[in-house]
Formats: sequence, structure tokens, C-alpha cells
Amino acid sequence: MAALIPMVRRIVGARVGAHPAADDLVQETLVRVLAASARIEPGMLEPYAIVTARNVIASMWRDDDRDKRNRHRVVDLRQPAALDEQLLASEEQSEVAQALARLSNREREALLAHEVSGQDTRSLASETGSTAGAVAAQLNRTRARLRVEYLLVLEQTEPPSDRCRPVLIAVSGGDRRRQREVDAARHMLECELCARLSQRLIGRGQQRDDEVRIAIRTGADIVAARQAARELAARVGFSSTDLTILATAVSEVTRNIVRFAGTGEVVAEIIEGPRRGVQIVARDTGPGIYDVEQALTDGYSTCNGLGLGLPGARRLMDEFAVVSEPGRGTIVTMTKWRQEG
Ligand SMILES: [Zn+2]
Repeated sequence: MAALIPMVRRIVGARVGAHPAADDLVQETLVRVLAASARIEPGMLEPYAIVTARNVIASMWRDDDRDKRNRHRVVDLRQPAALDEQLLASEEQSEVAQALARLSNREREALLAHEVSGQDTRSLASETGSTAGAVAAQLNRTRARLRVEYLLVLEQTEPPSDRCRPVLIAVSGGDRRRQREVDAARHMLECELCARLSQRLIGRGQQRDDEVRIAIRTGADIVAARQAARELAARVGFSSTDLTILATAVSEVTRNIVRFAGTGEVVAEIIEGPRRGVQIVARDTGPGIYDVEQALTDGYSTCNGLGLGLPGARRLMDEFAVVSEPGRGTIVTMTKWRQEG
């Protein structure tokens, strides 16, 4: 993993130069690669890091509304276990129905018998003269395929080559041996579609319990972000005063997103070192702030009100940084440390 750092730095540096967010982008890339490492074969780490870095940089600013609208559905796909009820229960959704229709009859029947009717692998095995282990392995492959087909339906696209599906299914299933066999590492560098879909298949694959992501669009999302941050901070042992302070700061930056940017996301994360604390990253794809220094000055307000609430949030937090690019969006990163003693 350490060997990847210089390479990731070069990629990020080549694209964003000495942008203040460069370090963040490097770190975000490494965090994602680390999270995916259990599901990809070792030879794929480097290409995966390259693809991830490109993706992290692009998503910093991309106004990908479609992706955001579909995010909750993709999130449902994150873990094979979570797929079953949520995805199949919503079978009326035409995308799921279409994805299911692309499975073979045998695959579909076994999956539905298991996930929907609750038939266990042993009884499925006895019906087909197989073993429970073989049935379970087949079900995993079917789930991996279903996730791939589902994303392809959502994207309304067909893979450009017949090498794509085997690669995507190996990635989706976290099958490292199969990834080697189909040379997924090389393919991801050559195929833009597979590079992108792989990110969605594994980049979000590991749900971390020390991190919460909340899509921000409406006033209700402000409350959700505030509560999520508060809950994380309570786990770290924040005093009730500091919980309120943190929640207030999160409210302020999130309200800015709803008012002025329209859409964005808030990520709250527990920090373990050098001290324990909670870091909040609020991103949006709004109009951006032309003069960040001025926006951080008390009393600052313009006709569009950008940056309102930022000085207040900064006072409430221990660390506070704003990166903004006019016309593209704003990232506020702020940290509150737990008071010792
Ligand atoms: Zn491909």
C-alpha cells in the first residue's frame, strides 16, 4: 500500500497541481483502495488505485445528478447480504426486473427461491442433486452477476467488448482467482466503462461503521446529517456541550448546501489519531464561492448569500478549511477534537 503513495501523488499532482485539496484526494484514494483490497487480487491494486484516483478527482467536482439520484439504489447493492431483501423486494422496479431477466432461468429460479421464498441451500441442493456448498457458491456468482446487470441496466449501456462481463462479474463477486484469470487488472486500464463500474461495484463495497455518508438535497437531510454527526461523536465520547456545538456546525454547512448549491453530500468520520475526534466533509456541486477569505469574514453576505454561516461554523470547530472553485462547487472540511480530561 505504501508503495502506491508516490504513484497516486503523481496522478493527483498531474491533474490538480498544487490545489489545496491535493492531499485530501491522495488520502481519499488510498482509503478507498485499502477498503477494496480484500476483494481484489494483489496484482490489481495498482490499476485500481489509478482508476480510483481519477474517479476521486472527477467526483470532486462532477455534477452527476443521475449518479446521486441512483445512489441509494447503488448503496443497496453494496453488500451481497443486503442485496437480497431490498433489491428483490423491489422487483417491480423495472431496472431490477430487467436485470433479473438477463439471468438464466436456472440462476433466477434458484436466487428467487432462496432470497424471496427463503428456501435454504441444502434443500435447493437436494432438488438439483448438488451440495449445499456448491449451491451457495453458485448463488454468490448469481448475485455478483445480478449486480453487474443491474448497473448496466441503470446505465442503459452494453459493454463494448465480450471481455467486459467476465471482468465485471469477477470484480463484483470479489473473486480474486477469477480476476487473475480474466486479467481484470489490465482490462480496467483499457476499458473506461469497466473502470467506472468497478468503482461502483467495489469502491463502495465496504460499509465502514466509523463513517456516515448523507446525500443532501432537502431540509430533512440537514437533520439527518446533524444527527449522524452527533451519533458518531457520542461514540467517541464527546461531552454533551461539544455534541451540540458539532451538530450546530454541521447544520450550518449543510444548510448552505440546501440553500445555495441544491445538492451535495456530507461525510462524517471518526478520527482516531493523533487525537480522537470527528471530521466532517461537506461537498457540493453548486456555484462555488468566489472569495473564500471574504466568505469566512463575519457579517459577510451577498445577494446570493453564499458562505452565510461559514464564519459561525468555523468558530465552532477546531479545524476548518474551505476549498471552492467558482462554477464547480465547494468542499468544507472541518474537525472537532474530543476534549481530554
Ligand atoms: Zn470492459
